[in-house]
Amino acid sequence: RAKRLGGNRTVFYDHTLQTEFEQRLWMEKDLTLALNTSQLAMHIQPQYARDGRITGAELLARWTHPDQGPVSPALFVPLAEETSLINHLTYWSLGVACQALLDLQGLDETYPISVNISPKVLMDPGFGEAVRGLLKRSGAPGNRLIFEITEGVWIQDVEATARRMRELNRLGIRFSIDDFGTGYSNLSSLMRLPIFELKIDQSLIRNLPGDPDSIAIARLILAMAGQLDFWVVAEGVEDEPQADFLARHGCDAMQGYLFARPMPIDDWLGSVRQRRGPSGH
Ligand code: C2E
Ligand code: MG
Ligand code: MG
Ligand code: MG
Repeated sequence: RAKRLGGNRTVFYDHTLQTEFEQRLWMEKDLTLALNTSQLAMHIQPQYARDGRITGAELLARWTHPDQGPVSPALFVPLAEETSLINHLTYWSLGVACQALLDLQGLDETYPISVNISPKVLMDPGFGEAVRGLLKRSGAPGNRLIFEITEGVWIQDVEATARRMRELNRLGIRFSIDDFGTGYSNLSSLMRLPIFELKIDQSLIRNLPGDPDSIAIARLILAMAGQLDFWVVAEGVEDEPQADFLARHGCDAMQGYLFARPMPIDDWLGSVRQRRGPSGH
């Protein structure tokens, strides 16, 4: 009995019959080790405009446990968030993002890279300084970094969240609301934050364009985003009818298996090089 999580393709083999408690035990223990070894990798998934142009790419963590096989980030990220491991994961992913941006620059590609940032890390007192230091040391352009924050984090303290975001804006960093449409969207709070992008959650994309409720919600979000001038990315786009519907209603970019699956960074860089041809290096 393979268990599918969050519509992802990570399938669990051996540990499906473990209790949640048993899973937690080895995950907690082994995640520390994984962060210091090659068990953990960053994959990347490009985003596309309707004309096929790449407009951005998102980094997604992958953990391959030596005995348990692939472990979904939907499982291990929440666990990491309960400890300081989330800091390690985040700084590591930011380092990968900086390197990827430098590699892209060398290839004359100018789209931004998105990194998932946990609310807890965003609001960590030292976070702004740490990011500033990282950008400075790496020489990566902050204005090509997008931080994806899950909808709802600002509920706690809008003013503090806005201050932190503006601090990072000064480094060029832009913000995206991830999984938009699933959380407790407080639109008036949303408006007080410096947000660049909305990512429509895949649960709202999945039943397009057949389901009237999904149609209504998607159109509403796209119309609102147009009015407020947000960049909108749809996530989990898996077929042409979905892509057609989204493009017709003004969605700026799409991310999903229809276009590309998350892939190892090296594969992706290889494909960028190939696309640019032998002269474009
Ligand atoms: P997310 O940021 O909303 O990422 C989108 C998820 O949708 C990814 O799942 C991606 O692999 C999956 N996906 C992409 N295209 C399709 C599609 O066409 N169909 C379907 N069914 N799924 C698609 P993934 O990689 O399992 O990540 C799950 C979540 O874990 C992410 O959701 C994100 O919230 C979190 N996460 C992943 N990596 C990191 C990380 O490095 N740091 C933090 N803080 N969170 C991370
Ligand atoms: Mg994301
Ligand atoms: Mg999302
Ligand atoms: Mg998600």
